[in-house]
Amino acid sequence: MSEIPLVDLGLQHRQIADEVAEGFARVIEENAFILGPAVAEFEDAFATFVGVAHCVGVASGTDALELALRAIGVGHGDEVILPANTFIATALAVARTGAAPVLVDCGHDHLIDADQIESQVTAHTRAVLPVHLYGQMALMEDIEGVAERHGLAIVEDAAQAHGANRNGRSAGSIGAVAGTSFYPGKNLGAYGDAGAVLTRSAEIAAALRALRNYGSDRKYHHPQRGFNSRLDTLQAVVLRAKLRFLDSWNGMRRVAAGRYDELLEPFEWVIRPVALEGNDPVWHLYVVRVPNRDAVLRALHEAGIGAAIHYPVPIHLSGAFRSLGYGPGSFPVAEELASQVLSLPLFPGITEVQQARIAEVFKGF
Ligand SMILES: *Cc1c(COP(=O)(O)O)cnc(C)c1O
Repeated sequence: MSEIPLVDLGLQHRQIADEVAEGFARVIEENAFILGPAVAEFEDAFATFVGVAHCVGVASGTDALELALRAIGVGHGDEVILPANTFIATALAVARTGAAPVLVDCGHDHLIDADQIESQVTAHTRAVLPVHLYGQMALMEDIEGVAERHGLAIVEDAAQAHGANRNGRSAGSIGAVAGTSFYPGKNLGAYGDAGAVLTRSAEIAAALRALRNYGSDRKYHHPQRGFNSRLDTLQAVVLRAKLRFLDSWNGMRRVAAGRYDELLEPFEWVIRPVALEGNDPVWHLYVVRVPNRDAVLRALHEAGIGAAIHYPVPIHLSGAFRSLGYGPGSFPVAEELASQVLSLPLFPGITEVQQARIAEVFKGF
């Protein structure tokens, strides 16, 4: 039997192949490799898609979050509050600014527990960095409440939530600034590394355009130190082409998630993901919780199914952040989830037959 990968980008590649070929040819012909016209074209289209005034393309999602924080002045001596349950890059980006990451636990919905943020606010706290994990937005109204009470900036990690909505507002449009990633497997993915920062503020956008380009406001003038972190023009061509299909691909993900819900319903021991009230998730991942996770994962792998774990080690238990001084027991829900979560294959184009075969494996338990 054929393998079922966690992510199969085949359908996406086929749908954009012609536009990408033409776009690449134009970039090569025009020698427009660095910040060519295709970059601004994509930035404008993505800003419109999200519903913000400005999008600044950068080299990766990690860079996007770091530059977003720097653009609002976060650095040494500051603290930034973020969830213990996220991809490592969220915390790496904070640390790279020189600020101290301050973690809070998640709820059983996997998202940052907004009720635990307030107790972590100190005189040094500058920002709170919610992560819209697995395609579902964090409880932004509660987070905005805390941020307002304490004068904190909100920086969204929207890497897994392209097109997600909460109560009519889209991921990346709520905070002062948001970072997102176009890593190939994301809902909107490039053909390599890429990312972007979103903001309503012209001032923050201008700061970002300088930061990503050696700190330059015009060629060979460098009023400040910056970085080399531009969105590659060829990647912008791919992203522009893919953006036309994003809503339809997110729709396919929604249908596939609904099918998993039906297929897995008979298994009482499988806790399925739920869309929170007010949320319209884009199903970046379909993450179930099972008590005997490692055994189920092994069985899926033996059946040729590319299931995975997002994420096996919460931030506070990873070696990279041992120096923060947390330990086992610091964030019990994140730790519990890390031992139970299981991501099933989900991508635009996954078939009913494939999903039925995946559900079949659960019958063995
Ligand atoms: C993918 C991802 C990032 C990092 O993006 P890169 O483009 O890989 O640097 C950051 N945060 C979250 C939640 C992600 O999923």
